Amino acid sequence: MSVILDGKQLATERRNQVKDRVEILIEKYHVRPQLVVILIGHDMASETYVSGKEKACRKAGIESRVIRLEESVSENKVMELISSLNQDKSVHGILLQLPIPKQLDPDKLMAAISPEKDVDGFTPTNVWRLASGHPELVPCTPLGIMHILEKYEIGVEGKQCVIIGRSQIVGKPMAQLLLNANGTVTICHSKTRNLPSVAKTADILVVAIGKPKLVDDTYIKEGATVIDVGISRTEGKLVGDVDFEKAVQKAGYITPVPGGVGPMTIACLLENTISCYQKLVGE
Ligand code: NAD
Repeated sequence: MSVILDGKQLATERRNQVKDRVEILIEKYHVRPQLVVILIGHDMASETYVSGKEKACRKAGIESRVIRLEESVSENKVMELISSLNQDKSVHGILLQLPIPKQLDPDKLMAAISPEKDVDGFTPTNVWRLASGHPELVPCTPLGIMHILEKYEIGVEGKQCVIIGRSQIVGKPMAQLLLNANGTVTICHSKTRNLPSVAKTADILVVAIGKPKLVDDTYIKEGATVIDVGISRTEGKLVGDVDFEKAVQKAGYITPVPGGVGPMTIACLLENTISCYQKLVGE
């Protein structure tokens, strides 16, 4: 039977540490850390994520401001906003909530965010820092996964690591982090042939595809560590990309959904905000 990797518990511990750190920093610098979230349009999932982030910030003593823009907003207008937030000394972190409407170029807008306030780690500078093995601000979801592996003393060095999903926000940065930790990394995607047999080579299997319960026990080597990033809502319930009931019979370690990777993503966002703050105040 598998060990359940309790991301919720670990995230609580880390969020409490952030809260303590924020109190010390405010006492020292008399400035409250502030995260600004730019939310464009009315995507329901984004509304939920943003309100979760706001709540977490508030609990940690971080000021959170959500700037809402109309679906039809022009690219120039968003660029101007980002530029003013970059210059605003009271703002320490800037997050552009994805997805954004089609008339806007996400790469252009992301690149406009100051790398020093890039709490998501998506700007070209931070992507390059990670790719060159000198990470500073790292995307929150893969970073949270590395903290889970560390907490449960699941070593990466020399291990076969298979990632299913090659998105900019999860799959690719996850590959970089595992590579930087000396794992042997394979990235799979929708065009990969014989996916179950490739997945079955993994000592560490990370699944981030957005297809509920696609990965069952036939994808998993006996004793492997299985990290489920997926979040989908089916029949009113949150489910992952891994069929937990089947996978748990084979895996050595496994993250549940909910309560696995998701809470760690939020904890890492708070930590990245504090890292930005510390750098900006000269700590
Ligand atoms: P995405 O849609 O950007 O990318 C999905 C990737 O999966 C693509 O690279 C695609 O090639 C691959 N893929 C799709 N179908 C496949 C298949 N049948 N076989 C193999 N590969 C396939 O998705 P994303 O933004 O990386 O998100 C993936 C999932 O993770 C979603 O459910 C999302 O909600 C969730 N997510 C969770 C968190 C969290 O904090 N837990 C954070 C980000 C994303």
